[in-house]
Amino acid sequence: MVTEATDPRCADCSGFVDQPLQLESEFPGLNILSSALGSVRADSGWCRLRDLIVVSRHSCDQFQERGEGGG
Ligand code: SF4
Repeated sequence: MVTEATDPRCADCSGFVDQPLQLESEFPGLNILSSALGSVRADSGWCRLRDLIVVSRHSCDQFQERGEGGG
């Protein structure tokens, strides 16, 4: 289950992808609609460990500190 959290947070997890160019690379058709720079996306990103769209302030029990899992 993904929940709201203060620490650790998805933003600090190696699975969290929120960089626009990396998102556009992972999802080749994404910029047909717009670009990953859009303000609608806000602080959400893709969890490549669980294949979910998550918000940076969420967390789950699969959290991996950046650098521990290769991210
Ligand atoms: S594994 Fe969990 S903590 Fe890490 S980005 Fe995904 S949902 Fe967030």
